[in-house]
Amino acid sequence: KSFAELGVSPAICDACQRLGWVKPSKIQQAALPHALAGKDVIGLAETGSGKTGAFAIPVLQSLLDHPQAFFCLVLTPTRELAFQIGQQFEALGSGIGLLVAVIVGGVDMAAQAMALARRPHIIVATPGRLVDHLENTKGFNLKALKFLIMDEADRILNMDFETELDKILKVIPKERRTYLFSATMTKKVSKLERASLRDPARVSI
Ligand code: AMP
Repeated sequence: KSFAELGVSPAICDACQRLGWVKPSKIQQAALPHALAGKDVIGLAETGSGKTGAFAIPVLQSLLDHPQAFFCLVLTPTRELAFQIGQQFEALGSGIGLLVAVIVGGVDMAAQAMALARRPHIIVATPGRLVDHLENTKGFNLKALKFLIMDEADRILNMDFETELDKILKVIPKERRTYLFSATMTKKVSKLERASLRDPARVSI
């Protein structure tokens, strides 16, 4: 099926076309119908599968209907992944005035606090630095969040970010949509799934 046939809106289909995405990848074919129907999704997929598109497209489509600051938080284990995901959001959102902030360690806190003060739609973050801002950056909170995405959840958990994840889950709304992507399904991932997703659709490739 094409992006349009999966229920992707014309504005986002145009963005996919601009990126040269002719047709949805396998993980996108599997995940988009559930995600666009409003379900939580747990996806087993590796980097290179197009999983970023699988979670970014439904977020952007929903954001177009209800534009607001701090709409979506994407958590990912490494700085490199955070920048890549930020770039894909920006590329997909270039036609709609999307504002994205990438919040990772090793970068000046004050500069990041200024980026957060601009009230981005999307935050892509590593867990440690995000908690740092939640605890120390005045005026910043995630009470309006509508989407939580945990990317490469197995790696996030292997890097001992559990305490940070718990802290983040405590301060974001319970009423939200959540997508969890992981290359492997481990005990820790199942535990996180139970703690954070609601009746999720399961997709794998
Ligand atoms: P990811 O697995 O999300 O890191 O994506 C891997 C690469 O595939 C990225 O460079 C994307 O731009 C590209 N990509 C994602 N979806 C598609 C698609 N439907 N068609 C062609 N390329 C894609």
